[in-house]
Amino acid sequence: MNKEMMYPIKGFNPHTFLDWEGRIASVIYLPGCNFRCPFCHSSALITAPESLTTVDYEFIKRFLREKRGWMDGVIIGGGEPTLYENLPALLKDIKSEGLLTRLDTNGSNTAVLKKLIEEKLLDCVAMDIKAPLDTLMYSNITASDVDVVTIKQSIDLLMSADIDYEFRTTVVPCFLQRKDILSIAQTIKGAKKYVLQQFSPKDTLEKSMRDVKPYSADELKQFVQLANEFVKNCSVRGI
Ligand code: SF4
Repeated sequence: MNKEMMYPIKGFNPHTFLDWEGRIASVIYLPGCNFRCPFCHSSALITAPESLTTVDYEFIKRFLREKRGWMDGVIIGGGEPTLYENLPALLKDIKSEGLLTRLDTNGSNTAVLKKLIEEKLLDCVAMDIKAPLDTLMYSNITASDVDVVTIKQSIDLLMSADIDYEFRTTVVPCFLQRKDILSIAQTIKGAKKYVLQQFSPKDTLEKSMRDVKPYSADELKQFVQLANEFVKNCSVRGI
């Protein structure tokens, strides 16, 4: 990849066994996000990326080559990676190394998502659904102006695409109640996979979120049972 096509990669996890079920993957973190979720754990990445050390992409490539045959793929996360115009080139480069690719996204950029899928640059997508598709709720939980029509378009796109995907929701008690989980599950009825993520009050973007008590494991399991009516493969992560 040309120097000018390189990215300000601001984080690299050499291997994770947990983030991509059944796969051993590296994670590349790209900075910046168009949302400002108060419960976000990547505050430096989205508000002050210049304070973080840039990771040399050539270093990452050398690592991936050394681990050839052992690693399954690379997750591109953030932040919101679809903000990067040259994301297709990065994914193409990773795929040319014989690796699978997964994109982690907030689903706010359907056009980019569509293009990446059409160009067969993605093997898997993990998309956040932050809240029921109600403009006020969505904008409140993301502290941003969100077009929920676009979020729905991204959902529909993934559900009709021939790739693996999962939808996921971080269940933040002060924003989401059981009726909201039910509403999201109804919206994605028949989806391949839905993951309810435990909220962690540590190192959140908004300090006030650090006082919010997470739901108990039992409460989250009850939410899963509710969602199961609409999505068979529903589980909890992070308890
Ligand atoms: S969409 Fe993700 S990266 Fe962006 S602010 Fe929300 S939690 Fe953080």
